[in-house]
Amino acid sequence: QFPFGRRLPCDIYWHGVSFHDSNIFSGQVNKFPGMTETVRKITLSRAMRTMRDLFPLEYNFYPRSWILPEELPLFVAEVRTMKDSNPSWKPTFIVKPDGGCQGDGIYLIKDPSDIRLTGSIQSRPAVVQEYICKPLLVDKLKFDIRLYVLLKSLEPLEIYIAKDGLSRFCTEPYQEPTLKNLHQVFMHLTNYSLNIHSGNFIHSASANTGSKRTFSSILCRLSSRGADVKKLWSDIISLVIKTIIALTPELKVYYQSDIPAGKPGPTCFQILGFDILLMKDLKPVLLEVNANPSMRIEHEQELSPGVFENVPSPVDEKVKVAVIRDTLRLVDPQKKKRKDTPLTLCVLCCRCQSPEQAPGASEEAPDAAPGPEAALPSLCLKQVFPKYARHFSYLRLVDRVAALFIRFLGVKGTTKLGPTGFRTFIRNCKLSNSNFSMAAVDILYIDITRRWNSMGIDHKESGMCLQAFVEAFFCLAQKKYKALPLHKQVLSLLELCECRLAALHGQRLVWGCG
Ligand code: ADP
Repeated sequence: QFPFGRRLPCDIYWHGVSFHDSNIFSGQVNKFPGMTETVRKITLSRAMRTMRDLFPLEYNFYPRSWILPEELPLFVAEVRTMKDSNPSWKPTFIVKPDGGCQGDGIYLIKDPSDIRLTGSIQSRPAVVQEYICKPLLVDKLKFDIRLYVLLKSLEPLEIYIAKDGLSRFCTEPYQEPTLKNLHQVFMHLTNYSLNIHSGNFIHSASANTGSKRTFSSILCRLSSRGADVKKLWSDIISLVIKTIIALTPELKVYYQSDIPAGKPGPTCFQILGFDILLMKDLKPVLLEVNANPSMRIEHEQELSPGVFENVPSPVDEKVKVAVIRDTLRLVDPQKKKRKDTPLTLCVLCCRCQSPEQAPGASEEAPDAAPGPEAALPSLCLKQVFPKYARHFSYLRLVDRVAALFIRFLGVKGTTKLGPTGFRTFIRNCKLSNSNFSMAAVDILYIDITRRWNSMGIDHKESGMCLQAFVEAFFCLAQKKYKALPLHKQVLSLLELCECRLAALHGQRLVWGCG
């Protein structure tokens, strides 16, 4: 920890909250630029919707969601249509403020007209989502799973999943939502931060009892009841890979903006917290992704009224220490040279965002050279990508659209495409013709950009954001390849653009030589 500023470059930088540090030119940082923004509820919902539009069957693990306030009319209309076609459908919805955490501001509703439009929604955008009414119960209680996922590299994509996670329990027996119990948070919300305040919360030192247990203890229990645990794991791995595939296009735009290709900079990795709910039939459903999952291994205990003490939490410790230890093992650049070169590690604390150092600590840990790998337990992190790449690579269409977007961004350091960049894209890919003039191109740019900027959270830069470009690209693809399903339209247009750009690049090389 570096309280007085860092003088030497480090191998690994461990930041508390976000990437921000323009002063790093080498080594590895434990955060990706833009990760916090990318996994916000609204951004995640939009990314999942784009993927669901392309691949409806592959992306049915995320509850149907609408963004408030802009999609309120759409939400109302779609619910009405679904109710008309199926009068016995009695849905419940969950409203979650964007950027909220720990259950903050969340409430359940039975009807779109129950959305609280006064105050909060207007000033604070939110996501409204189908509520999963039939979760799997253990001991009559609803629970969710927190799984730790290491995104070790974006390019090439490398993903690891921790073999064990946490199961966080509600503290009131579950009942399907009714108007009477909708507001009972201890029954419906699994957040630790809420349930800890229930008189029924049980701190347990054992992994398979109490209000926070290991996921492996739940799997053992399910397995003893005859559940197909192998299939469940494979569904979870698939959910994690597909979710990361949905997030990578946006992350790549932030990455090139903060760490331009060809300039010295660090590489990044990040531990993410995936919150997953199991349905009664064991189908996993993604609730959200946390960019900064809590790594606390102790909890507060009230010794006497108003007197609290931090006590160790063996369940947290078992899972989290292994995740951090093995992340460091995987990213350790000095693995082979470890004996001669001690690892230098910089930690930025989350509260002050400034470097901290324990009094008397030297910049290089004196005993940083750990013992041989053999002395450590086997890795708790399992590589799932590129291991299973061939099953999932066909889903990476938006990644390719993002590569086109980044290519035309022009001046490095931006995340939005200007009108000239968009025109150059159309011209270089030869997409305009007698039916689609350059004037129509400008109108498309203005229409889509204006709409996205009017609902955007990021007003810092003007221009077309990636998601607006993706919409424009889909629009062009639909126009050009009318009869095909959307993913084939997009693939056809991608192949055409990539081919024309390669040809142009070839020509330029030849001209350059001439
Ligand atoms: P936060 O970031 O505030 O914790 P979450 O999206 O994780 O927000 O939601 C909080 C809790 O609400 C979850 O842990 C889960 O118990 C419950 N929950 C969230 N979404 C759903 C849903 N679609 N169906 C059922 N329960 C949900």
